[in-house]
Amino acid sequence: MHLLYGGIEAGGTKFVCGIGSGPDDIQHIERFPTTTPDETIGRCIDFFKKHATDKNAFEAIGIGSFGPVDPNPDSEHYGYITATPKPHWSHTNFVQPIREALKVPVAFDTDVNVAALSEQTWGAAQGLDTFIYLTIGTGIGGGGLVNGELMHGLVHPEMGHIRIPHDLERDPFPGRCPFHGDCLEGLACGPAIEDRWGKPGRELPPDHPAWELEAEYLAYAVVNYICTLSPQKVILGGGVMEHPNLHHLIRKQVTKLLNGYVQAPQLLEDIDNYIVPPSLGSEAGVLGAFSLARRMHG
Ligand code: ZN
Repeated sequence: MHLLYGGIEAGGTKFVCGIGSGPDDIQHIERFPTTTPDETIGRCIDFFKKHATDKNAFEAIGIGSFGPVDPNPDSEHYGYITATPKPHWSHTNFVQPIREALKVPVAFDTDVNVAALSEQTWGAAQGLDTFIYLTIGTGIGGGGLVNGELMHGLVHPEMGHIRIPHDLERDPFPGRCPFHGDCLEGLACGPAIEDRWGKPGRELPPDHPAWELEAEYLAYAVVNYICTLSPQKVILGGGVMEHPNLHHLIRKQVTKLLNGYVQAPQLLEDIDNYIVPPSLGSEAGVLGAFSLARRMHG
């Protein structure tokens, strides 16, 4: 007998709700746009009420949410989306209305931690206990596991907002992070590419200088994470990473920047299998949410 779980992938533009136990067993799935919290969380509750029949009873719900969030169960704001710039969503209590309406345990974490968990359970990070997952799209977010535990701490990592070298002569673009200007996200997220070059990344040819610069910025970041966290693998996903050559360019830059210092065959001999794209598709968020619910439920 296999147990069923509910999963919610809460993104800034769309939500995905599902019921199932794994990639080969998604019994129901529904996608809808992110509007106001009342309406969108209401649609999640309706979805689970509609599909949770006796035959389809689920044990717990996992949520992977855009952030920033409060994932600390001991905090009075646990389960909240906190100070997000996204209109209407700042200081939204996400977990409580779901738990009250559906009367099941609810596990809550960042979207990137949950995506990392799905890669560990079914994808590119199977068998690993320390790895990172970075998503480069509208923003840049990072998560993952350290020694088998999802990365938390004070709040949760904000890997997109680290500082990296920025040569203003070569790249006068000031960056677009509303908090920091030229942090990693400010320089290298998808909208930064569009602002700097006047065209979205998908319209720039593969040999455009934008990509060397992008690879360099992302490589600085990856090298910093390698040196601080010693991940066994680095998974790079998100819309910007769909460029066909970007993983290759980043691997080259990372090798150059590390300069042989970190003595691991994965880096020195097999970097193609060390810096990799995610291996799960568009259902990764919901699958990771099943996995999160199962971890909590035991
Ligand atoms: Zn920033």
